[in-house]
Amino acid sequence: MTNEPDRISFDDLVSAIEAKLIGAGASPAVAEVLATNCATCERDGTLSHGVFRVAGYLDSLNRGWADGTAEASIDVVGPSYIRIDGHNGFAQPALAEAGPTIDQALDDTGVAVIALRNTHHFSALWPDLEAFARDGRVAMGMIASGKLAVVPEGATRPVFSTNPFGFATPVAEADPIVFDFSTSSMSHGDLQLLRAEGQDVPVGTGVDSTGADTTDPNAILDGGGIRPIGGHKGALLSFMIETLAAGLTGGAFTYEVDAEAPEGAHTFRTGQLFIVIDPERGGNDAYLARVREFVDMLRDAGMDRQPGDRRYANRAEAAERGIPVTDTIRAMFD
Ligand code: NDP
Repeated sequence: MTNEPDRISFDDLVSAIEAKLIGAGASPAVAEVLATNCATCERDGTLSHGVFRVAGYLDSLNRGWADGTAEASIDVVGPSYIRIDGHNGFAQPALAEAGPTIDQALDDTGVAVIALRNTHHFSALWPDLEAFARDGRVAMGMIASGKLAVVPEGATRPVFSTNPFGFATPVAEADPIVFDFSTSSMSHGDLQLLRAEGQDVPVGTGVDSTGADTTDPNAILDGGGIRPIGGHKGALLSFMIETLAAGLTGGAFTYEVDAEAPEGAHTFRTGQLFIVIDPERGGNDAYLARVREFVDMLRDAGMDRQPGDRRYANRAEAAERGIPVTDTIRAMFD
């Protein structure tokens, strides 16, 4: 508990979200994983994937679009290759269920390729990637995120989702370095938050329904599209992510799933790919120390903002004072 009235403790927030999810039909095991994930995002300041997303989870559950009681099938199809069918459940609980199988593959071979399909991923990648790094693993993940929203140059309609990609590595005697970003100029969640606040976005963020640049989030979200990061280079990253997270896993491409989702359902049943590596297997015992030297060099050269710095600072403050209670959190208790 926290004594500050405009703050809530992490545990209380998890319990409140869990209760909502269970009320909408999620099993206690699924609710625990999703609630912890949402509260973790909120605590660390990834507000686009924190409590803001709870209503979307509830809509998908209430409409029967996602199965909150699904138990994943886990097939080890090669010593390092784990295929997971989420049976229309959520991705994070399916990944959690596969935890012992993933650990076994890493112990046996030093690598785990984790291919999820029939799974809804509605959150940030970093909470799961950071957990791998805290266990001493290097990890990367990518998602066919399911909402057709991104228009590369030359295309006349959205063809990609915001296709996030994340990477995490342990670092000697420091928190892991973890970055995680959409391969679009802005995540769909942030764009929705700015729309709700009535704010404009920078030129280059997206286009309206005629294909013209616009600074109005409404025009981008209603019939227009978001631009990839870095022009054709971001578009090609999205191509790779869709190919691996949907094509390789056997999940649905974003362009297939978007049309399928019923009105009012906010999550998407697609696919996700994670690759996890035990760095010690590379014969490089000094890996952690080498990464530390590299990160220290970057800070020394002036790149003193590293990915994770903002989140870890928010986390430390939340541990001391609790998580700030936003209007979105207040609305959840109404
Ligand atoms: P952000 O721009 O918020 O953050 C990108 C990353 O860059 C973060 O790891 C951040 O670290 C780091 N970073 C930010 N500024 C700097 C800097 N100056 N120097 C070095 N590193 C920096 O990402 P997005 O808005 O694109 O995405 C937000 C979240 O949305 C992601 O977690 C993503 O997974 C999620 N998402 C999920 C989707 C889904 O369908 N499930 C779809 C699209 C996005 P820090 O965390 O410390 O700020």
